[in-house]
Amino acid sequence: MTQLDPRSMIAMAGFMSAVMAIVLLFMRRHYPPSIRGVGAWAAAPLLWLASTVLFSVRGFVPDWLSLVLANELLVLGSVTYYMGTRSFMGAAPTWRRWAWVMAASTGVFILLTYGFAHYALRVAFFSVLMGVVYAVQLRFMMRHGEQTFPVRLVQVVLGLHMGVLAMRLVSIATGYAGADLMEPSVFQTFYIGAYVLTVLMLSIGAVLMATDRLRTELEHLATHDSLTGTLNRRALLQRCEDELERARRYGEGPSMMMLDLDNFKAVNDSRGHQHGDAVLVHFAQCTKQVLRRADRLGRYGGEEFMVLLPGADAAAAAAVAGRVHAALTAGHPLDCQVSIGVTSWHGPSETLDAMLSRADAALYRAKEQGRNRTVAS
Ligand code: GH3
Ligand code: MG
Ligand code: MG
Repeated sequence: MTQLDPRSMIAMAGFMSAVMAIVLLFMRRHYPPSIRGVGAWAAAPLLWLASTVLFSVRGFVPDWLSLVLANELLVLGSVTYYMGTRSFMGAAPTWRRWAWVMAASTGVFILLTYGFAHYALRVAFFSVLMGVVYAVQLRFMMRHGEQTFPVRLVQVVLGLHMGVLAMRLVSIATGYAGADLMEPSVFQTFYIGAYVLTVLMLSIGAVLMATDRLRTELEHLATHDSLTGTLNRRALLQRCEDELERARRYGEGPSMMMLDLDNFKAVNDSRGHQHGDAVLVHFAQCTKQVLRRADRLGRYGGEEFMVLLPGADAAAAAAVAGRVHAALTAGHPLDCQVSIGVTSWHGPSETLDAMLSRADAALYRAKEQGRNRTVAS
């Protein structure tokens, strides 16, 4: 391990940073702008790349470039990555606070390079600083955002790297710091190797987080109605099939409700299509509010909706229908009237087609009997 030359390892870190920056820049260009933070995630490896270039020309350029600026660029890259994570998870960036940290730490680096040149102290200070940046980010990630696999991966990488930084501190305290970064000792090799891996894994983590978010967004688009935010017909019918399948095994089948807004064509004709759209959105919101968590509302088509009520018998379904009627007569300017056909599960031989046609027939009778009412079948 000691044969590995620190300079080549640093060059390798630079190369990886460049590749990951290209990947993330590509994603920033082609992913929807609703996925925030990718720009900062792309900038971070570019800053790390600039830093590694400066580190690798140590001895050939003045110390303020290869020491002060190189270290600060590394810190800035990590802060930028953290700001990307914050944006991605919907939190405001905290640049101002970190600008102060950067300014103060630049002062300390200058002092430890020119005023009181001390390699071990510089390394110790740098390790603590990076540890703080990673710890703040880890804490933020544990508190915000869903704990998906990519998020957990980044958390583990941050935790591991904090461990490496702690080991480095211990090695300094026990006198194993070495005299120079480029010294090919076991500790330096281990530290630089860990740094190379962290750069790579953080960028991969960013790619995975953004891709996972894209997948979630596409899945949502494919299963939801864009106007009302309810399930679309295909997704709702799939959930109905799943529920019937479950009921065949375990019993306690669902009820289903078919809802059709009354005289909606007249609403459109008298108040305009946009007002009609607003009524549909209002209807969906009111209906969702009176449903239980397990119930599913979907837009069956046009001004026709459907509700799946898992585990609800005829009486429970009738009660829900009553709550829907009540919610729509609360005095809101977008209130409307609705006719509802309800049907309940008949047993393990039940099919979705049979339930749908019974609900449809009940809805037809509700319309026939004068609208704004519920009929059960
Ligand atoms: P009924 O009480 O018998 O159900 O009468 P209705 O007027 O509600 O039924 P009809 O089927 O005659 O008209 C449904 C109307 O719903 C016609 C269509 O223009 C309107 N509609 C369907 N989808 C949308 C939509 O997305 N937005 C708006 N604004 N209107 C829609
Ligand atoms: Mg209608
Ligand atoms: Mg209709």
